[in-house]
Amino acid sequence: MAYKLAEAGYGAVVLEQKRTLGEPVCCTGIIGQDYVSSFAIDDSVILRQANSARLFSPSGRCLRLWREETQAYIIDRAAFNVAMGSQAQEAGAEYVLNSLVGNIEVGDDKVSVEATHQEERLNFEARVVVIATGFGSGLAQKLGLGRVSDFVIGAQAEVETIGVDEIEVYLGQEIAPGFFAWLVPTSPQTARVGLLSRQSPGLYLKKLMASLLAQGKIVSAEAELSYGGIPLKPPARTHSERLVVVGTAAGQVKPTTGGGIYYGLLCADIAANNLHRALESDDLSAKGLASYEREWKRKLGWELKISYWARKFYERLSDRQIEQLFNTIKSNGIDKALLEAKDISFDWHGEAILRLMAHRTVAKAIQVIKFPFRSGVD
Ligand SMILES: Cc1cc2nc3c(=O)[nH]c(=O)nc-3n(C[C@H](O)[C@H](O)[C@H](O)COP(=O)(O)OP(=O)(O)OC[C@H]3O[C@@H](n4cnc5c(N)ncnc54)[C@H](O)[C@@H]3O)c2cc1C
Repeated sequence: MAYKLAEAGYGAVVLEQKRTLGEPVCCTGIIGQDYVSSFAIDDSVILRQANSARLFSPSGRCLRLWREETQAYIIDRAAFNVAMGSQAQEAGAEYVLNSLVGNIEVGDDKVSVEATHQEERLNFEARVVVIATGFGSGLAQKLGLGRVSDFVIGAQAEVETIGVDEIEVYLGQEIAPGFFAWLVPTSPQTARVGLLSRQSPGLYLKKLMASLLAQGKIVSAEAELSYGGIPLKPPARTHSERLVVVGTAAGQVKPTTGGGIYYGLLCADIAANNLHRALESDDLSAKGLASYEREWKRKLGWELKISYWARKFYERLSDRQIEQLFNTIKSNGIDKALLEAKDISFDWHGEAILRLMAHRTVAKAIQVIKFPFRSGVD
């Protein structure tokens, strides 16, 4: 976003609370092929490519998903942040690190931003402000854009592994209640292990690590845990006069998996184009910036809604039902049919959800009576 605006000739200033552009990060760093096809990515930040994953049911049954072509890339998320920041700086954006934004005030002809840098107060004035603060800064809510009403917390650790060379996903209420856990290899001997949970993610992760140690998959169950929030629903509004909100702060995240890098970048692109138009015509009113929200919702709105519905549905399943669903999918070859469908990808889940739920045997297995969504624009 900063890159695009700077490249278009605007004076873009990025205020970042961290001391460096890279660490700390709490992200598994998986992006799909769609990201790599849509945006340039520095090869040096890609750690691995993946074309398969092993899904484990609550009882430990395994479903292997496999496609011939690369489906996902595991990136060094800290290096990715540095690469994006450097690209923006080369285009002319100015980065002010170690600067925590505490207050934003929107006036008639400018926005005033107050930040703290090494106990010193910094004041900035701009024609427009982009809030891209990730999860939990509260800045958008303070400005009346609403709050993220549903979210989950992720916990993650870096571990040494033995013989883990495929992405593994674990399901089950005892493992990650309502969500899932993962072991994602970053090299032949290392992986990111993590999970999402509404309650006690750290405790569940420690339990999972002890189990992976007992299974001989990881070398030690001792590791530093990091935590991060993931919105499952966008706030009420993602724009107002002289303001736009993008990325996780705007709920531009897949509610099924919590993945937000691709959706965030897609929406940042939409925001940059709309801001360019609004700045050129000097119409930074809420009405003038509404096209950003319309456009990103046109692109993602249906996908987010159906994925949220699927998420809530999954959260209500018992281990027995998950197991039943798992067996139905496996024994009816539904996994193969979905994998063969060319229009289903790592980043777009709505169509896969619809097809799965519409499958007679699946519907029967989980006793779906009524499915409340139709394809189309929200
Ligand atoms: C455990 C976990 C695993 C994940 N795995 C994946 C994955 O594999 N693939 C995927 O696509 N997504 C994943 N995500 C989600 C992904 O990390 C986010 O969607 C993505 O980082 C959002 O980018 P962002 O720029 O909106 O926010 P962030 O990356 O959170 O960046 C926001 C920045 O704003 C700064 N900031 C915040 N408040 C202020 C303030 N007041 N003043 C100044 N600076 C501020 C922060 O320091 C931060 O650098 C994961 C998330 C978690 C928690």
